[in-house]
Amino acid sequence: MRIVRGHAEGTASVLKSDTFVGTVWADSVLPTTDGTTINVVTFTPGARTNWHEHTDGQILQVLAGQGWVCTEGEAPRALLPGDTVWVPPGERHWHGATETTLMTHTAISIGPTRWYGQVRDEEYPTEESR
Ligand code: MN
Repeated sequence: MRIVRGHAEGTASVLKSDTFVGTVWADSVLPTTDGTTINVVTFTPGARTNWHEHTDGQILQVLAGQGWVCTEGEAPRALLPGDTVWVPPGERHWHGATETTLMTHTAISIGPTRWYGQVRDEEYPTEESR
């Protein structure tokens, strides 16, 4: 058993870039342990992940702000603090902030992540679609 007090000891916040659009910061809670990784991720307005899949699924828990999550082939769905999302294994999706607000979520990722292309501006919802 292991207890993490708040944030992984000795780690600094990381500015994410190559698999995201916009400015995204990640704070490590649990570095990959037995295949599970936990990060607290903050998306600045307009920022989002690229399209991706989690081999064994992912849990998102929204802590602050407002955001979006979107499964390939479906409409984006609004996220608010207190919301929990289960992303099934192998389901291609993206998540991020809205155009005008931050979003912070805890991301519990199980197994490796496979990354694809950026979420294009045409795929990213405007405020009017909320
Ligand atoms: Mn994900």
